[in-house]
Amino acid sequence: MSNSPLISGTLLTENCSKPRNHKIDRITPHYMCWYTDAKTCCESFLPASRRASANYCIGKDGEIWMNVEEKNRAWTTGSSYNDNRAVTIECANFMSPENYGVLPNLTYRSLVLLCVDICQRNGIEYINYTGDDNGNLTMHKWYQDTDCPGPWLSSHFEQLAIDINYRLHADIPMPAVFAGTYECMIDDLNVRTEPSLQGLIVAQYHKGETVNLENWYTSNDGYIWGRYIGFSSGEYRYVAVGRATGKVEDDDYLVKI
Ligand SMILES: [Zn+2]
Repeated sequence: MSNSPLISGTLLTENCSKPRNHKIDRITPHYMCWYTDAKTCCESFLPASRRASANYCIGKDGEIWMNVEEKNRAWTTGSSYNDNRAVTIECANFMSPENYGVLPNLTYRSLVLLCVDICQRNGIEYINYTGDDNGNLTMHKWYQDTDCPGPWLSSHFEQLAIDINYRLHADIPMPAVFAGTYECMIDDLNVRTEPSLQGLIVAQYHKGETVNLENWYTSNDGYIWGRYIGFSSGEYRYVAVGRATGKVEDDDYLVKI
């Protein structure tokens, strides 16, 4: 297991479990409740009495420092289950009442780039934010009595997933809004359990039918995939919108109406 090349410094704490007992398959961004730099945040996790840590800290200027190596389990989320699977990241945030919890632009940008790097090094093909523990982008407050990652970051997890996935698959330009009603332009469009040609086919759309896609997409197997929650299954279902050419094409399978 490697560490991020994006760090500006390292200040390792002994507040961790060595080694982690599960492979990395998720990311848990936190907010510090602190407008400070990455090194100061790492320093705050050095005393044994603190009994807390994070794999990485991102400061108000966007600088990234490592506090616990990725091969080890940081003590960040109060959940052995989550922290053995997650790379955890503490992010600086504004503290004034009018923008409490908001990440500075440079902090948010570094968070996106660090998440992309974590995905690439650990074989996470795309971020799937489900709003619960079934996905691979998780929140501290799902495991402990806390408001972390705070009001702003909590409401930006969907966008964070889009921003990470966009960079993981940089051949796709980011549409202003992907979500919407799409009309099927071909006779048989397969609905699958994964955004991949390997996904099980569980239904089909036919020419003229419409589907409401969420504000999410990914590029895989040469196609852009959209998703929705199946009415009867309650599970995410994926459809190929068209070839992954970087723009809308005449032969797209689904056309936004
Ligand atoms: Zn937290």
